[in-house]
Order: sequence, then structure tokens, then C-alpha cells
Amino acid sequence: MRRTAKATGAARAGSGKNEGGSRHPSRRPEASKPDLRAPPAPDQAVGALPQTELMPGLYLVATPIGNLGDISLRALAVLNGADRIFCEDTRVTGKLLARYGISTSLGAYHDHNAERVRPAVLTALRRGERVALVSDAGTPLVSDPGYKLVRAALAKDLPVTAIPGPNAAVTALILSGLSPDAFLFAGFLPPRQAARRRALARWVAVEGTLVFYESTQRLTESLADMGEVLGDREAAVARELTKLHEEVRRGRLADLAAHYRLAGPPRGEAVVVVGGADHSEPDEAEVDQRLRSALAELGLREATAKLAAETGMPRRKLYRRALAMRDKKK
Ligand code: SAM
Repeated sequence: MRRTAKATGAARAGSGKNEGGSRHPSRRPEASKPDLRAPPAPDQAVGALPQTELMPGLYLVATPIGNLGDISLRALAVLNGADRIFCEDTRVTGKLLARYGISTSLGAYHDHNAERVRPAVLTALRRGERVALVSDAGTPLVSDPGYKLVRAALAKDLPVTAIPGPNAAVTALILSGLSPDAFLFAGFLPPRQAARRRALARWVAVEGTLVFYESTQRLTESLADMGEVLGDREAAVARELTKLHEEVRRGRLADLAAHYRLAGPPRGEAVVVVGGADHSEPDEAEVDQRLRSALAELGLREATAKLAAETGMPRRKLYRRALAMRDKKK
């Protein structure tokens, strides 16, 4: 087991099969490109860090989602002190390491080679190596590779720890102006409309704020579907976070969809944050109004099910109400 010596040089490795896990590969947008314009301050250079001995194990290291200044001192120390680093794209992580003068050996661990590389990572861990896992940007495992590796390491009682840091979902949530008290991170929605609507229907009754990753190319369609399925709630689109053109656009889902329909798909990367379901019972006149509009488009059962999901009101109560409305009309 090596404790102090550190391998140098970059092993630019491979390809292969899909790791699977929580991320849908076809939904994968362009990777966050680190903002390389900002040079590190002299006191951020890795040479200035105290050289602490790293314990053997797997280190899950968060890296910047745009601004390279957002790397933590501990992340730099671990990346510098590890025996090797596994990353999604050795070119992306190579640039981050070069910026901080780190020459730790790099290997690829991504959706397409994870099945093949995972046993080698586990062997290294069993030998007592210090292995760091990073993704192209942000926190590994969060809509990024690593979940199966962590499961496998834990199953073999190998030490796993995390160096927390940037994450687009939490950054968007705290900038959204929507309640951060309880939230549900839903990752990427399916790219096709029918599947996307089905996925959204799963979250319709959730009271907590909803957080989605979305490709900017699909933003308009997704916002429109969210408005249809979840109701026209308050929302925010947080784009290019921590980068030069950071923007947070807040408004109702229908207004946001209308904005992007007119303006066209924006550049870069985006997170959509949507207010949670409001289960406080709407007043009777409002319920009747909403039932009437639902019944104009849907059958009795579908209309009451939709309203029950949106309001949290008992379906049976709504059904009786809808029946009474229909009978009154006759
Ligand atoms: N693991 C990363 C994290 O911790 O945030 C997320 C990786 S996921 C493959 C990439 C998605 O995260 C993008 O499509 C976008 O939805 C979101 N994202 C990443 N960086 C972002 C940024 N700077 N601004 C807005 N959204 C970002």
C-alpha cells in the first residue's frame, strides 16, 4: 500500500458498457465546461496546501459547476494526494488539475466503461490505495456516474468518504426564491413528451419544492408540460450558475414557457425549480370552477383524479361534487 508516493502522468483510458444508475444516458446534455478564464489566486495553488496524509479509501470529490474558484481546499488536497483519480472525461478533469498544478494519474470512469473499470477500482481500493472519483462538474453520483461503484465498495466494507462542494441542484434551489424547507430532486425528465408527462405525474402531489435538471434545448417543451401536469405553479429557471452569464428567471410555469418559446432555447445548462403542491383546500367556488374546466376536457373519473392529484382533496368527495354538478346541469 502506497501512502506518500504519488503516481504522475495521465493515463488516458477507455470505453465500454454503460454503468446505468440513476442517469439516463440519452438525456445527458453537454457537460458543464469549467470557466478557465479565472486564474487561481496564488494562495489557491496546490503547493500552498498543507500536505496531509490521506487514509486509504474511495474519495467522492465535488468539483466546480462552472467557476474554477469554487474548488475547495480539501478537494485540492485529496486530488493532489490520491494515488489516482477516476473521472468522466480525462480532458475536462485534466484542465482542472493543470490549473492547480496537480499531476495525479487520471483514468476514465464513465457510463460506457464502468462495468469494465469498476473491478479494477475495487482491486485498487482493496490494495489500500487512495482513489478519488470526480465527474465533469459538480458532485459525483448526482445525475453522474459513481453510484454502483459506491454500492460495490460499501458491500465489500471498503472505506468511502466524500469531499462536498458544488452542486447545481442545491445552488438553483437556494437562488429560486422557492421554499427550501423540503425539496425533491427529480434529476432529468425523459426526453419524449408522453414519458415526461408520466414522470411529472409522479410528483404532482409532492408538497416540497421540485428540482429538475433539463437540457436547455428541451426547456420550452418541459416547462409547458410541467404547467399542464403540475398546474401553473411558481417556478424558476437557473441557468449558467457560477458562470459569466448566470441568470435566474422566476415566474409562473406558463409565463416561463411563453418566454422561451419566443426567445428560443437559451445557451448553456439549466436547472428548473418548481413550487410544491399546495394541499390547503381551495374554497368551494374555486373547486367548482376547476372541476368545470377539467370536465370540459375529460371524463368524470379522469377529471376528479386530476383535481385530487392537484389539490390533495379526497377523490370520492370530488367525484360526488362533479356528479352533483352534472345532475344540476341536466
Ligand atoms: N453532478 C452535477 C451536479 O452536482 O450538479 C450534475 C451533472 S448533470 C450530468 C448536468 C446537469 O446539471 C445539467 O444538464 C444542468 O441541468 C445541471 N447543471 C450543471 N452545471 C450547471 C450550471 N452551471 N448551471 C445550471 N445548471 C447546471
